[in-house]
Amino acid sequence: MPKISKIAVLTSGGDAPGMNSCIRAVVRTAIYNNLQVTGIRQGYQGMIDNDMYDMQTRSVSNILNLGGTILKTARCMAFHTDEGMEQAYQNLKKQGIEGLVVIGGDGTFTGALRFSKKYPDIAVIGVPGTIDNDLYGSTYTLGFDTATNTVIEAIDKIRDTADAHDRLFFVEVMGRDSGAIALRAGISCGAEAILLPEKETAISDLIDNLKGGQYEKKTSSIVIVAEGDKNGGVYDVAQAVKKEVTNYDIKVTILGHLQRGGSPSAFDRILGSRLGFAAVNALIAGESQKMVGLQANIIVSTSLEEALTQHKFSLEEDLLQMAEVLSI
Ligand code: ATP
Repeated sequence: MPKISKIAVLTSGGDAPGMNSCIRAVVRTAIYNNLQVTGIRQGYQGMIDNDMYDMQTRSVSNILNLGGTILKTARCMAFHTDEGMEQAYQNLKKQGIEGLVVIGGDGTFTGALRFSKKYPDIAVIGVPGTIDNDLYGSTYTLGFDTATNTVIEAIDKIRDTADAHDRLFFVEVMGRDSGAIALRAGISCGAEAILLPEKETAISDLIDNLKGGQYEKKTSSIVIVAEGDKNGGVYDVAQAVKKEVTNYDIKVTILGHLQRGGSPSAFDRILGSRLGFAAVNALIAGESQKMVGLQANIIVSTSLEEALTQHKFSLEEDLLQMAEVLSI
């Protein structure tokens, strides 16, 4: 097994709470094992621009509680090109970097796998960092728990005003392809309906539900609409319902980017620490083109190829059915 002596870490794609705990774990696990560690700013853009710095144990002090990522993140179009990748490779070689930890989502892993196939002398390990919880090979991704808690906190507040005014609120939450946040927030907040990208809900069914006898005594209703719901967006859904459901004042709230921010939950801090620790140990063990993830509370590694080609998440039908029963 070739012994590596210097690694680098970057965060890429959408930021997710808990990324900092992962960076901290990568840096400290590397230094504990006598490896040098370099931080790359702005994801793959920093690799191309040579925007890197040596990190020490104290470079990651007091960051566990911070949202965002101290390394910054970016969406980098230049990394899609052969020239961009070559520039990035040359920069890493100049710095003597032999292993790379990339923290991000499926786009980040697609780039990492392409890069690693082109330049196999630099080992790459991925850490699933995205609030969407949409990666195969890890039951939970970094940031999902905090984002869901943030949504719950916001919807609890919306529920207060909805209740005071007999209002029906349509709340849009993040999730273009994944209804994971919507489903869990819906269960946690007792939403009357949850609209998800993975399952089409006919507007007529939603209206029937909202007009149904069991709702007549409700003083407020919340419908959670994931961004990727196929009914044309939260305003269209609200408009269509407004024509038919007249016993409520209808309002729309889009939670937007606040869902990405905030101090990470205990779960995400621990998950980030475990995944960062595991990623460095995987590099030391000579692994590459793998993703470390959490399954049944154990850290396991999955090939990046498999993580990208297997479809993540079938909709958790059992949770959706339970939510429907519990919202009567
Ligand atoms: P999130 O799930 O939060 O959106 P992500 O990692 O999927 O995170 P993307 O913007 O899709 O976010 O990807 C991050 C970066 O990965 C891109 O900006 C680009 O630099 C790189 N990347 C994505 N796809 C490719 C690809 N096919 N080839 C090379 N690089 C890629």
